Amino acid sequence: MSNVRKAANGSSVDCAVFQDQLPSLFESGEDLNTQAHLKTCENCSALVRDLEYIAQQAKLLLPIHDPSPEVWENIQVALKKEPSRK
Ligand SMILES: [Zn+2]
Repeated sequence: MSNVRKAANGSSVDCAVFQDQLPSLFESGEDLNTQAHLKTCENCSALVRDLEYIAQQAKLLLPIHDPSPEVWENIQVALKKEPSRK
């Protein structure tokens, strides 16, 4: 494991805010390197590197080239519809 430096008392408010936006930033295909917080926060940049790595691996594993959040939404909707047939 990487030696990620943790803040003394968990994550700061900045980190919480940033990490809260992270999923939507990822989904929008935003360039995370432009995020100012990453330049000042070692903790979050390590987190983003990990997430980017995971996303890359996921793309290699998935048969879809560009898995958009919509795809997952459709799958979830389909799964929900299935059993509730009245
Ligand atoms: Zn941070």
